[in-house]
Amino acid sequence: MGSGAPVESASPSRRGFLRGRVRAVAPAMRPPWAREEHDFISSCTRCDICIDACPTAILVRADGGFPAVDFSLGECTFCGECVTRCAPRALLRRAEGEAPWALKASIGQACLAEAGVECRVCGESCPTGAIRFRPRIGGVALPQLDADTCTGCGACFASCPTRAIVVRAESEVPTESEQ
Ligand code: SF4
Ligand code: SF4
Ligand code: SF4
Repeated sequence: MGSGAPVESASPSRRGFLRGRVRAVAPAMRPPWAREEHDFISSCTRCDICIDACPTAILVRADGGFPAVDFSLGECTFCGECVTRCAPRALLRRAEGEAPWALKASIGQACLAEAGVECRVCGESCPTGAIRFRPRIGGVALPQLDADTCTGCGACFASCPTRAIVVRAESEVPTESEQ
């Protein structure tokens, strides 16, 4: 009797494990002009040519040997060397005026200015002027990032002394009301 085994709910440790797995399989940040992930994976031959071609050396071999961007190593200048040299067209130029990727930066709570410490490093590193500082009466100026001007180049990421900046897919950037 009672042939069916009881269905167990996930234990806390199992839930943690499952959450860890979700983080582990989050899509890597591919080089600029990468095709949609499924098409990218099926066309990239893992030849490393884009990695070797990148003058700022921000492309690394990631999971499975596929290339990904590591902004802790530097920024993307959108020089186009990677896309130009990608023979199997896993990286493919888009229509005129279309951005090479959908990455955007956002600034989190670890920002020194939030803690009352004067810092404008990110604004000084940003090549597009996307980070402006809003003066505050009785406090230090806070950085404000204009997502429309941000190209997701990553120049601000490594320069931030507290790693307060995150660069990620535009769809994952929290809106002001979510921050
Ligand atoms: S566009 Fe240039 S700087 Fe950016 S990832 Fe490609 S080769 Fe590197
Ligand atoms: S560099 Fe970092 S700590 Fe400094 S203002 Fe920008 S986000 Fe804040
Ligand atoms: S990712 Fe590049 S363009 Fe965007 S705010 Fe940072 S430095 Fe500026």
